[in-house]
Amino acid sequence: MAMIHGECPKCGKRVLHVNIENVVGVADGSSNARCLSYSCIHCHVVLGVQVDHRAKPRSRAKPAATAS
Ligand SMILES: [Zn+2]
Repeated sequence: MAMIHGECPKCGKRVLHVNIENVVGVADGSSNARCLSYSCIHCHVVLGVQVDHRAKPRSRAKPAATAS
């Protein structure tokens, strides 16, 4: 497994670290999803955004199978 790091598409530096910021995803005009934004620490261009699955407002769909 080679340790190859990607390069920032804007400043061309290797992306060894990213800034992780909490952003809000807007769907149908209402903000209802917490997301994480990853940005280059050198030039702050956003490299990617994803939904923060840890902080979902309503995810109580647990299959309740851990009872003893
Ligand atoms: Zn950059």
